[in-house]
Amino acid sequence: MDGRLFINGEWSKADKGSFPVNNPANNDNIGTAADGGKKETQEAIEAAEAALSSWSGLTAAERSAYLKEIHRLMMDRQTELAEMITLEMGKPLHEAKGEVAYAASFLEWYAEEAKRVYGETIPAGSPDKRMMVIHQPVGVVGAITPWNFPQAMVTRKVAPALAAGCSVILKPAEDTPLSAVKFAEICEEAGLPKGVFNLVTGEAASEIGGEFMNNETVRKVTFTGSTEVGKILMEQGADQIKKLSLELGGHAPILVLDDADIEKAVNGTVASKFRNAGQTCVCGNRIYVHDSVYDTFVEKLQEKVATLKVGDGFAEGVAIGPLINEEGYEKVDRHVKDAVDKGAELVTGGEGYEENGAYFYQPTILKNIDSDMVIMEEETFGPIAPVQKITSTEEGIRLANGSPFGLAAYFFTESMSRGMKVAEGLEFGIVGWNDGAPSAAQAPFGGWKQSGIGREGGHQGIDPFLETKYISIGL
Ligand code: ADP
Repeated sequence: MDGRLFINGEWSKADKGSFPVNNPANNDNIGTAADGGKKETQEAIEAAEAALSSWSGLTAAERSAYLKEIHRLMMDRQTELAEMITLEMGKPLHEAKGEVAYAASFLEWYAEEAKRVYGETIPAGSPDKRMMVIHQPVGVVGAITPWNFPQAMVTRKVAPALAAGCSVILKPAEDTPLSAVKFAEICEEAGLPKGVFNLVTGEAASEIGGEFMNNETVRKVTFTGSTEVGKILMEQGADQIKKLSLELGGHAPILVLDDADIEKAVNGTVASKFRNAGQTCVCGNRIYVHDSVYDTFVEKLQEKVATLKVGDGFAEGVAIGPLINEEGYEKVDRHVKDAVDKGAELVTGGEGYEENGAYFYQPTILKNIDSDMVIMEEETFGPIAPVQKITSTEEGIRLANGSPFGLAAYFFTESMSRGMKVAEGLEFGIVGWNDGAPSAAQAPFGGWKQSGIGREGGHQGIDPFLETKYISIGL
């Protein structure tokens, strides 16, 4: 597929030409994407600005109808979209199909939430005044998305922005631009008015992102990616007090307490840890298990992990696809080697391999883990499960909270009263209690501390795309 830019309802080439897109499972070239830069970003911003007033002037029900149509088309083309996800980023095809359904669910959810942007009236302090509050779209939105969920990260931003009445320019990750091209095709097919949704793919991320940050027409930037780039955007945004939503890195703890149902704990850990080959920001990254159940947990986890097949995401029965690239592979390998050098014991796995420039890593369990190992401090983004012993619930909570990140945390206990206290004690935006897969369109997703600012999903997810206006009326 040769992807073009989608600006003002037209497909166009970029001045700089195009760049290749490769399959991470075998490094085969699967097409090209247009290499947009500053000029094309400016054109897209102008188009979005021109489209804004008529789009925000539609009734919520009219905007809702477009979102429902996009949802319908995405589900009609579920297999085709899933195949592109697997081609571009490697996740197993059944996971990719699940991602498309999850991605589409944001269109459906925000098609409904568009109709519920309620204002309020406030009792005034004098009889000759009336006070009201209304919400209006923030304006033109720049959205920057990562490669690990090529459809879902796009719709989680674009759906609420469109529902709120904003127009959007999307810059997808350079590893997965073609899934975004397919999303743009669907927006076109749904008859979305020109300029409401624009797509600028490109390799020069800082050039496109820089234009979002410097151009006064862009009122809001919504970003999912690394904490490192999130910090750059915050600095760049200071000049114009740019409205920012940031979904950044995580380093999720999993606590298995002494009264946990071990089967639930093992299944939840596998769901959280090994999905997407461990390449999600909510993947469990450090596992703390009470010493009374430690050996049983490790043994049962090993049995389950032994069933996970590594390979090309299109191959039958594969549960773990390739890592996204060499850099990702090297980080995983560095974390494993550091742990082993510091005394960790390999229960299973511990090795990766490279084939024609494609990188795979075996699902790995490490025990005898200590807090001074790099894997317990940094996000790994790979299929590695380090299991550390704890001797009390309090120790588990203290270790879990001892991180600058606060996105997702998981814990397993059968006790209601203990569980409530653990849930309340964890300094994280998302907590899975006996649940390794909490993400859902109807729930708020986002992080505490250095994991980000703002929420996506839920009724909260539309707020970042709305401004609040207080109107005071003298009678
Ligand atoms: P990851 O480690 O997941 O690749 P990044 O933060 O590097 O995370 O990338 C997430 C998104 O941010 C991608 O679309 C990428 O192109 C974009 N990006 C990277 N650097 C910048 C930058 N300096 N300004 C704006 N966007 C950037």
